Amino acid sequence: MPRILIVGGGVAGVSTAYFLGRRGLRDVVLLEREPLLGTHSSGKNAAVLRTLTSDPVTTAFARASADFLHAPPPDFSPVPLVESSGLLLTADAAGAAELERWCETSDGERLGPEAARALAPHHEGEIAVASWFAREGRIDIAALMAGFERGAREAGVEIRTAAGVERLLADGGRVRGVRLLDGEELEADWTVMASGGWAGVLGRAAGSRVALTPRRRHLLNTAPDATIDARWPVVWHHGPEPFYARPESGGLLVCGCDQAEVDPDRCVEDAAVKELVAERVAKNLPSFADAGVASFWCGMRTFTPDDRFAIGPDPDVAGLFWVAGLGGHGMVCAAGVGELAASRLAGEPPSTPAAHAFDPSRVAGTPVG
Ligand SMILES: Cc1cc2nc3c(=O)[nH]c(=O)nc-3n(C[C@H](O)[C@H](O)[C@H](O)COP(=O)(O)OP(=O)(O)OC[C@H]3O[C@@H](n4cnc5c(N)ncnc54)[C@H](O)[C@@H]3O)c2cc1C
Repeated sequence: MPRILIVGGGVAGVSTAYFLGRRGLRDVVLLEREPLLGTHSSGKNAAVLRTLTSDPVTTAFARASADFLHAPPPDFSPVPLVESSGLLLTADAAGAAELERWCETSDGERLGPEAARALAPHHEGEIAVASWFAREGRIDIAALMAGFERGAREAGVEIRTAAGVERLLADGGRVRGVRLLDGEELEADWTVMASGGWAGVLGRAAGSRVALTPRRRHLLNTAPDATIDARWPVVWHHGPEPFYARPESGGLLVCGCDQAEVDPDRCVEDAAVKELVAERVAKNLPSFADAGVASFWCGMRTFTPDDRFAIGPDPDVAGLFWVAGLGGHGMVCAAGVGELAASRLAGEPPSTPAAHAFDPSRVAGTPVG
């Protein structure tokens, strides 16, 4: 049975640990630098369940993954993982052609502007095209993360927090484990890069050519307002000025879809983005243009060059395995990501379109050095 070290305790790491445990692979240790799991992107995201993406392979993968969210194993969570408030995708005239193209592979219901406005009366932006997904909405992130963690621990996976990896132990084209910040060295057959925005830096230092780019995105929660109906759907608007919003904590969680490239060690809030969000709120949700700000924060979405996930062994460095580049879909696709990673770590060859499409060999670009 292979010994496996997972570096990172976000959703990529805990879902991989959970599905390894379910397969009976028990010589598994998860290492997380922070005192708590899910401190970074997996605890800072918008929790939107949306399966339609620009890529048909990722959309099919997201739909299959969402089945797990709708109907997890009986002992996974004491509460539902999804609140199906509905998801309304809209586009203005400038974004209509793109959304129409995406919708060719969509299981959403096409709506005219009037029907769309009836579902989301607070959204006053221009609507040229709309598509409705009744089963989608909000994911309970805390319950999802807790279910993976509990299941992994019960299957015998060791989870160590406050255990930062300083570097991978690499020599002769092989990674044989990690060195922790306190100097301890751990050996393994597989070292799994599930370290989100930091994965690319760690892997590259060990000789990998897998390229990853972290991009910063901000979210803003408006102050509570009695006129907000908690049952309103998620509204995701496409066009030159993309924007999404959903009810949260008595206010609205809003996003201006910013995506500046960022150094993972310098991902801090930029006040200029608050202005951008305010402009988009004024345009799309004018009734809330003067709403106060309850909170404003940012996190990283990390991408491969073709925006598809990187799940599988490194093409050049033996012993190195990737579960990274989850972009903006890591929470929706959590179950599929963990299941695919576990199957490949268990030695199964890639057998599905997604397994091939996500194989890291395709994103190993220019030679290192
Ligand atoms: C603003 C925002 C909104 C989003 N909205 C959605 C959404 O609505 N729906 C959706 O599906 N997805 C969404 N996403 C994307 C989703 O959050 C990510 O795809 C997902 O969280 C990535 O998980 P991860 O485990 O790869 O990364 P992370 O959650 O960042 O986990 C990586 C972990 O690795 C640890 N680590 C790093 N370096 C080391 C080291 N050297 N040693 C040990 N540990 C280390 C970190 O501390 C961290 O805990 C959003 C993201 C952002 C930023």
